Amino acid sequence: YPHSLQFYLEPPTESISLVEFESFAIDRLKLLKVVENLGVSYVRTTDSYKTKLEAELRKLKFPYRALAEDDYEARRKDHISHFILRLAYCQSEDLRRWFLQQEMDLFRYRFKELTGSLMQKFLEHINLPFEAIGEDLKNELANELCASTPGFSMPKVKEQMFYKVGLADAVDLFRARRVFIKDGFAYVPFKEIDVIVLNNYRTKLSKALALTARSLPSIQSDERLQPLLSHLSHSYVGPDYSVQKNTGKISLEQIDALSVKSFPLCMRQLHRALRDSHHLRHGGRMQYGLFLKGIGLTLEQALEFWKKEFIRGKVDADKFDKGYAYSIRHSYGKEGKRTDYTPYSCMKIIMSNPPSQGDYHGCPFRHSDPELLKQKLQSYKIPPSGITQILELVKGMHYQLACQKYFELTHDVDDIGFSLNHPNQYFTESQKLLNGGRELKKEFSNSGNFQQKNNSQEGINSSSAPTSSNETADTELEGLEAYFTED
Ligand code: SF4
Repeated sequence: YPHSLQFYLEPPTESISLVEFESFAIDRLKLLKVVENLGVSYVRTTDSYKTKLEAELRKLKFPYRALAEDDYEARRKDHISHFILRLAYCQSEDLRRWFLQQEMDLFRYRFKELTGSLMQKFLEHINLPFEAIGEDLKNELANELCASTPGFSMPKVKEQMFYKVGLADAVDLFRARRVFIKDGFAYVPFKEIDVIVLNNYRTKLSKALALTARSLPSIQSDERLQPLLSHLSHSYVGPDYSVQKNTGKISLEQIDALSVKSFPLCMRQLHRALRDSHHLRHGGRMQYGLFLKGIGLTLEQALEFWKKEFIRGKVDADKFDKGYAYSIRHSYGKEGKRTDYTPYSCMKIIMSNPPSQGDYHGCPFRHSDPELLKQKLQSYKIPPSGITQILELVKGMHYQLACQKYFELTHDVDDIGFSLNHPNQYFTESQKLLNGGRELKKEFSNSGNFQQKNNSQEGINSSSAPTSSNETADTELEGLEAYFTED
């Protein structure tokens, strides 16, 4: 690895262990999530953005600063992890777009951190040998360069380097009338060269993702990799909220009030639908039931809660006891193979099993029509400016960030102060805020220290052998869902 920065043109060819494969991939995923969060919360050119991103790169042991990173291990990790996520994130248009966006932002930051000479070396290395024009030519073209390059006075022209770049590589700058053109070449100032390099990177990465997607069938036949890759693309990195310590601290009478104050929109919507129609179809029961378990409902409470509601609708007590009760016990690990199911993460809710007509599960930021979402937010008294911000984030496909904004607006805070990954995390953070940490201490004293369970259907633990356990959990989950198929 001759440079800290890479265009990732050649895939790695060495053999690595599954454990390393998994931990590299998870670390890069964590990094890309931070990139996504920072990209929305901060202006990319500000010091806060740069400082926070550098800190994350350092923490996760990726190359973090051009001159301080002659570090083979960090470069190797950077290289291999990029290619693993390429495999995981080439599987659908949505995933590809998300991955491309975050990788581009990461690349932009790192490229701009390079010193002039490292930048030049890097350009040569990736075969974009744009040549800096000599002083003579620059003096000769000084008037034209000054007139055609926005923001450039004559002294600035004298001071900055200009690159002679083929028109095909500078289309964007040329279209935006930001460069001087002569004889089929654009004269690009040093400060704009990143636009060209980034365009080139985007084109290459986007083609590479499409190509990787074509070779997916052969990867999917690898029984060690396939479950791991599919978990990575749905992966939520963080605690799995399957803890039992807060169990029994919530009473059924509190749920209506909590659903308004502390539930994320997805769960608030499910709760409302359940109260209104006394029924939820199986996708909703799974998503909401496991969430309630995660916030602390005991098995007995869950049975009572669902039964009371369902018998108000079309289900009689006998039918409930024979069918639905079994599935609730199953989800608490008391029936069948006794798997203790973990609540769904945002990624899982957003990426899998989209709701159809009559369903209330899913993520409203991802799955609702924007007009309906707007109406819902209005009915929840979100101010118009907040609704506009949320809808903008939704448009940019930043669903979890839209949810964070919803949290900020409903809790009257400026900065949520955490990165949202899980509906149960939303709940815990909300309770912490509303109760000034007091209740949390009593009810959720293990927040942030949740156990990652090797055999959970969500948790990917870098120290576990992932594939077989995840497969087992998935099979179990299908088994559980089968019990819920009755609508
Ligand atoms: Fe629920 Fe997560 Fe969507 Fe928020 S982002 S509504 S918590 S799925």
